[in-house]
Amino acid sequence: MQRDLPRYQKNNYDLLVIGGGINGASIAHLAALRRMKVALLEKNDFAAGTSSKSSKLMHGGIRYLERFEFGLVRESLRERYFHVQAAPHLVRPLAFIIPVYEGDRRPLWMMRLGVFLYDLLAGSQKIGQHRFLSRDDLLKHEPNLKSEGLTGGVLYYDAQMDDARVCLENVLAADAHGAHVANYVEVTAFIKENGRVTGVRARDRLAPEKPEFEIRARNFFCAAGPWTNALLKLDEPHAPEKVRPTKGVHIVTPKKICKHAFLIPAERDNRIFFVLPWKNNSMIGTTDTDYSGSPDQVAPEEADIAYLIEETRRVFPGLELHREDFKVSFAGLRPLLKREGSASNVSREHAVFTTASGLFFVAGGKFTSYRSIAEDCVDRIRPNSMVKIEALYGSGRIDEEGLPRTAREHGVSLELIQGLVEKYGARYTDLLKLGKENPALFEAVSPGLPLIKAELVYAVRTEMARSVDDLLYRRLSLGYSPAELEPHREDLLKAIHEVCAL
Ligand code: FAD
Repeated sequence: MQRDLPRYQKNNYDLLVIGGGINGASIAHLAALRRMKVALLEKNDFAAGTSSKSSKLMHGGIRYLERFEFGLVRESLRERYFHVQAAPHLVRPLAFIIPVYEGDRRPLWMMRLGVFLYDLLAGSQKIGQHRFLSRDDLLKHEPNLKSEGLTGGVLYYDAQMDDARVCLENVLAADAHGAHVANYVEVTAFIKENGRVTGVRARDRLAPEKPEFEIRARNFFCAAGPWTNALLKLDEPHAPEKVRPTKGVHIVTPKKICKHAFLIPAERDNRIFFVLPWKNNSMIGTTDTDYSGSPDQVAPEEADIAYLIEETRRVFPGLELHREDFKVSFAGLRPLLKREGSASNVSREHAVFTTASGLFFVAGGKFTSYRSIAEDCVDRIRPNSMVKIEALYGSGRIDEEGLPRTAREHGVSLELIQGLVEKYGARYTDLLKLGKENPALFEAVSPGLPLIKAELVYAVRTEMARSVDDLLYRRLSLGYSPAELEPHREDLLKAIHEVCAL
């Protein structure tokens, strides 16, 4: 994937997509599959906005059953199944437990009905069978769980994803099908002729000294998530705001809190939150509060962190959890559609709208539903097409039986190859090619860390990483994984500087 900016000025695109989060990436991917001449611009790194700050769940959204949003749940369950099949290296089934206590607003019968319905809606696309758990079962599975008042619980399955890499694989796939994609290019103005947008002005944020340049296109899709209101105002200064951003914070500790993922109703406000295993860490989230500042400035606040720790301590009282255990935290903004009501009750459905100048906007929705959101968007420009996103960049058959032979041929361990398959899917062969050209790239970055130097080169050369943060947070999945990162941080930074010259 080449970051070739001069080519943008030589083309008149069928479609220019603004925003390289999951929605922009998948719109570009699908439009390229439908043979459109596509450009994708992202002002930061791909997925650096909300699309790397999610709870990392490819899920049906069991809690939406409460609001009878059966259509949304069924569609999400279908997407969950698709990804577990098409991208098992990025999306994996995960068992969740919901414990129920005396006096809970959602009693045990309701939870049992919920998981039953959830599996029923999934039909043949179920990824694991729900179970009802007695109080004793629960305490046997999870001895740290609060026992006082515990009446029982349920176990069900959802999937966990590497959100930033799912987004990246859509960008890579768009590029592979001919789209021109670039990160760190910001759209600063719309160019209009007779009131219609015919182009944009853009600036290269990696070369601020260079003049802005123009890009021409026949159609424009703004997939700017929480930045939607800002782009609406760039088009028309008095445009009403369409998106109501709500902030969601996660905190991460290398301590193991529980073996399963947990979905827990918070005592303070009755919202539900997750305690999730994330590699060898525990990730807790999320909050959901209205946010009115600049989307560029969003960050966790001490009150958010305190709320999550307090609620987790309440359910796992046997564990000593302190503020200093949570050195890693992150915040994202849900780009929800503007409607009245409390933040948690705003619909997660998406909407597509146009402006008088002919710009298309998409906002709202869930990460999980991105393929149907992309279809809804691209259909507005190129309808009547049967072409859909059926694979990601790392999709494809892997010759599992042939892996030991491949390992011998490349003079590396089977474990190393399996590690690459787990991260890159069928594209592990790209990494092997790099190592074949230069065997030093098969070396581990740090003893005990399953990461080889070829992955750093690949991230820069093929996956367009341009900074240490791009590598840590959105290519190597280490930024939010203190258990993996901290013991190796120094070696890793040294290797990044040596191998990638970043
Ligand atoms: P973004 O990812 O924010 O992308 C918009 C992009 O536009 C940004 O990268 C930004 O830099 C770029 N941009 C803005 N202005 C410009 C410009 N002028 N020029 C160029 N580029 C520009 N969904 C799920 O399915 N599962 C979950 O577990 C889940 N958990 C969530 C937890 C939290 C805390 C939050 C906040 C959301 C969660 N979601 C979840 C929802 C999901 O993450 C979002 O719906 C999705 O990521 C939104 O993607 P997007 O592409 O619309 O926005």
